[in-house]
Amino acid sequence: MRHAVCAGCDPELFFPERGGDSTTPKAICRTCPVRQDCLNWALDHHEIHGVWGGTSERERRMIRRERAARRGIPFIDDDDRLPVRPGSLFTRSAS
Ligand code: SF4
Repeated sequence: MRHAVCAGCDPELFFPERGGDSTTPKAICRTCPVRQDCLNWALDHHEIHGVWGGTSERERRMIRRERAARRGIPFIDDDDRLPVRPGSLFTRSAS
């Protein structure tokens, strides 16, 4: 991503363990000129891992829950989505 401040950082920094400290990556994001674009991308693509646009996984889940409530649509937590098996996308059932 052009102008991304994190481009020269260790990617591991932006993927702390669940419940781990995300203070440093969030501080880096606060200085990033593409922060809003980054956050929008993560929300649009249901990115559930890591720090994106200065938000943690939990914060993005809250944003998506609030957006769903404002639109009057059901909120589907990414953690509740059924896993997609690669082979299931392009196979036909016998009929
Ligand atoms: S806002 Fe996005 S692109 Fe910018 S530093 Fe944070 S993670 Fe990287």
